[in-house]
Amino acid sequence: RAKSAGGNRFELADPEADARAITRHGLTTALPAALERGEFFIEYQPLVHLGDGSVRGAEALVRWLHPQHGILGPDRFIPLAEHTGLIVPLGRWVLEQSVRQAREWRELHDDSGPLRINVNLSPCQLTHPGLVQDTVDILERTGVAPDALCLEVTESALIGADDDLLKPLRRLAEMGVDIALDDFGTGYSNLANLRRLPVSILKLDRSFTQSMQQFPADPVDLKIVEGIVSLAHSLSLAVTVEGVETGAQAEQLRILGCDTAQGWYYARPGPPDRLHELALVDATG
Ligand code: C2E
Ligand code: MG
Ligand code: MG
Ligand code: MG
Repeated sequence: RAKSAGGNRFELADPEADARAITRHGLTTALPAALERGEFFIEYQPLVHLGDGSVRGAEALVRWLHPQHGILGPDRFIPLAEHTGLIVPLGRWVLEQSVRQAREWRELHDDSGPLRINVNLSPCQLTHPGLVQDTVDILERTGVAPDALCLEVTESALIGADDDLLKPLRRLAEMGVDIALDDFGTGYSNLANLRRLPVSILKLDRSFTQSMQQFPADPVDLKIVEGIVSLAHSLSLAVTVEGVETGAQAEQLRILGCDTAQGWYYARPGPPDRLHELALVDATG
């Protein structure tokens, strides 16, 4: 089979592209039933304090155990769920599960301080009118304090955000929920714009961490991270770094004043019991 590409050119059909398109279509139509059947699950990756190495909480990362395709990462299906609107009920499910999990950890760790839970929000959830009420309901049902929850929103979702978009985030921030700016440094946001956003945490994108691979790292990258950290701290924002894979990176980022870190160096995302064990080991020395 050949497809006409216009003019005199002919292109062979790309069977892999066709397969991908079929899979995309198949995955998209399977999403609602997957949510009903309970095919989604959440892995938790620890957030570690760079100063003393203690586990302070975890980020919830959703996965799909697909009956034919096995475990699919969020990059495979979150964009499809955003496209169809299923992200709203799926995101609500992730939030509820994660907050329940945080309460369970709290019961197991009452002396070592509450473990915080970070949950990713997609831009579609931000514009959905139920966001604030759903969050309030979930916190009330579970009895988890708002300040144990952090919602992560990507920098790109808030670029050029008007007041209507920021209003629900402001409400949540006033209640004590932390808002983190995820993948910070990959977008094009005006740094002065940060003042306007109801954000209390910057999550520096993995690309910065990657440039800390060598020790000492590239002096220009060091200056950039140093600048971001000092700006963040002067605005009373905490800085979390993503994608820490080596001890050298952790050490460099600690010296630069970053507050919290996340990455394979500490732990890969895993089941909730794993997080509990890591936090426990940590609390008992
Ligand atoms: P993110 O929020 O920036 O999450 C961090 C991603 O980096 C995760 O990928 C995590 O597994 C990965 N990661 C962590 N440590 C390391 C490391 O040391 N090295 C490397 N190379 N990677 C590391 P994952 O789980 O595939 O998630 C990808 C993205 O999907 C997330 O990026 C987030 O934007 C989105 N996502 C995940 N769960 C949800 C969710 O429940 N709702 C929404 N809306 N988006 C989600
Ligand atoms: Mg995130
Ligand atoms: Mg991130
Ligand atoms: Mg990222």
